[in-house]
Amino acid sequence: MDFDTKSLRFKLWALFALFAILIMLLVWFLEIYFLHNNYEAMKIAETTGIAQSLVAKYGQEDFVDSCAKLSTTSDIYIHIEEDNGSVIYSPMLEGDTPPSYMYFRDLRTVQKELARAQSFPISVMLEDATTDYNTLAYATQIEAEDEAGVLHTVRFYVFSPLYPVESTIRILRHQLVYVTIISLLFSLMLGIFLSERIARPLHNITESAMELARGKYGTTFHGGNYTEIVNLADTLTYTSIELEKSCAQQRDIMANVSHDLRTPLTMVKSYAEMIRDLSGDNPEKRNAHLQVIIDEADRLNLLVNDMLSLSRLQTGAMVIEKKPFSVKEMAESIVQSYAIFCEQEGYSILLDCPTDITVNADEGKIRQVVTNLINNAVKYCGNDRMVIISIKLAHGQVRFDVTDHGMGIAPEEIEHIWERYYKASTNHVRTTAGTGLGLSIVKEIVLLHGGKYGVNSEVGKGSTFWFEIGVR
Ligand code: ADP
Repeated sequence: MDFDTKSLRFKLWALFALFAILIMLLVWFLEIYFLHNNYEAMKIAETTGIAQSLVAKYGQEDFVDSCAKLSTTSDIYIHIEEDNGSVIYSPMLEGDTPPSYMYFRDLRTVQKELARAQSFPISVMLEDATTDYNTLAYATQIEAEDEAGVLHTVRFYVFSPLYPVESTIRILRHQLVYVTIISLLFSLMLGIFLSERIARPLHNITESAMELARGKYGTTFHGGNYTEIVNLADTLTYTSIELEKSCAQQRDIMANVSHDLRTPLTMVKSYAEMIRDLSGDNPEKRNAHLQVIIDEADRLNLLVNDMLSLSRLQTGAMVIEKKPFSVKEMAESIVQSYAIFCEQEGYSILLDCPTDITVNADEGKIRQVVTNLINNAVKYCGNDRMVIISIKLAHGQVRFDVTDHGMGIAPEEIEHIWERYYKASTNHVRTTAGTGLGLSIVKEIVLLHGGKYGVNSEVGKGSTFWFEIGVR
């Protein structure tokens, strides 16, 4: 058993016990203290009430019946007589069980008291020295006419035996001890049962969280029977699965980066060795080999630059500097930079920009976005080797579309191509030259400009990559 005083188990258990103790204290107080002090007062009130109701009912038809009923239900004795001595009601008359206490002696005592009294009603406590029993007597008299219209004095006597409270209290106390013990035990059991039911799933969640902390991503959490704990468990399971995914992604990224870096480095190393060992004296070969080294170094440079700018974009370290510039001029100058390449390789890059649009944005970064999209289009274009760039203005937004007629992208891959280092499986073989970062950079820059981006693509027909940004 866990005795950590701060534990949920202990606290629940203690609360239940405390609750039971409080209830029992209340019961003890009410039953014993109250009974002890109030019994007499309650009896007096009850007797007075009964006597007054009798007086009120006097003269009614069912008067004698009511007297009989009251004396059997209320544990009292009623005696009513007129001043001429005729008895209207008495326990002896009505065949009640004869009073077990000193009824006749008491009656006489109270009759005397009433005769002496100046005002009515009177109440007398009749004490019995031989037994513990006392009797509370209440007496009053009224003037009433009989059937012949003659005035009579009618005297009412109500006797209420007072039982010794002490013995009752003794019995109650005895019972209460058992009740207290049973209710304490019961509350303890209930507390333990409830705390077990709440604490166990929490304990299990803690165990699973420890597993997660030890690196076992994908651990599932089980929450038991309470909605709140089940929600917590579900959230943790979700977190754990997300962690697993992101961990796998990180591993992929590491594998990709090291692969991407290793290939050009191996090339640089092997060509350098070749120059040292073989082609050093042959200027033609040496130059060709040196060119490979330069190309690979360029590629490394490109890769490292892409990585740097992406990480700066994603950590928010890169800020955009907006300035108004002409989109048409920018696009023309980009297309111009591909002129020699297009001529040599047989590509055609067509620009469709009917109006001159001025946009307030970071020109350098928008240029990078367009260049990345053109590079991709060139890389993945179809046999027609054609790339179409179209720029339009609509609703205060300038929209760029870069279209190719290449192999397109499978629908299930589309949502992933914007992720870092993602290379679509269909294009993987052809994209050894890509870094897998181009589209992530496009996405980050467009988002930094508060714009939108997307792609419409059909496998076998080609793709149109688009983005739009506000002109202001
Ligand atoms: P990469 O350097 O591999 O091109 P990107 O982030 O630019 O990296 O592109 C991610 C992936 O998206 C590419 O590997 C390719 O599979 C797919 N892709 C991008 N542009 C096109 C395109 N125009 N046509 C078909 N697939 C494309």
